[in-house]
This record gives sequence, C-alpha cells and structure tokens, in this order.
Amino acid sequence: MKQFTIKTNARSEMIDITGRIRSTLAESGIRNGLCCVFVPHTTAAVTINENADPSVPRDILKELDKAIPWNDNYSHTEGNSAAHIKSSLVGASETVIVKNGDLVLGTWQAVFFCEFDGPRTRRFLLKFLSE
Ligand code: ZN
Repeated sequence: MKQFTIKTNARSEMIDITGRIRSTLAESGIRNGLCCVFVPHTTAAVTINENADPSVPRDILKELDKAIPWNDNYSHTEGNSAAHIKSSLVGASETVIVKNGDLVLGTWQAVFFCEFDGPRTRRFLLKFLSE
C-alpha cells in the first residue's frame, strides 16, 4: 500500500491525481490487475470524471453546493455536515482496471481527489492487486 499527502486550497475542490497514480503504478511494475484508490476521510472523497474541460469539476462542485447547502439546520455541531454528506454521496474509493501497465480510463476520464471541508492537508491511499 502507498500513502500520499495532498494539500487542498479551498473549502471545495477537485484535484486531478491521475498522474500521481500512473507514476506510482509504473514504479510498481504491475502490468495487469486492479488499482484501488481510497480516501481515509469523512469530509473528502474520490471520483472519476472529465479533466479536459475544467468547467466540469466546477459544475459538479457548484451543483453539490446547491443540493447540499453549507448551512441547513444540521444536527452535527462541528458545523461541517454538508461536507460529511458530500463525502458519502461521492464515495471514499474507486477501483480502476490495470492493463499493460496503465490505468484503463476513458479518453476524458481522470481520477479526482474531492475536498469538501478544506483547505487541509489530506491523504489518499493506493493499493495495486496484480493478476
Ligand atoms: Zn464533522
């Protein structure tokens, strides 16, 4: 298992981590199998979506904010319930197939670390399973 640190810069942010995953996969020497990306936080997440047009992650974050407003009479006294809810909706892990030493992603797909209660220093974990 590999652990990475990631610094986020805003309350809500999507950071493309595909390059870090690809270079770690290359170092591992694994040719075929699975890659699991896990985010060990309750107010962050990981997702796969388009990185070609930066307005796509912007729209995702904007609509999540509309659906789950920061202030909405939540019971959780820490004041970050919206971030907890977004984390559960988006999810804490993604699994990507590894083929011929590379991630099998669609042309426009990238893996994004999703911050919902930043800025903070966060972590994500990678585990490769070889076929
Ligand atoms: Zn909380």
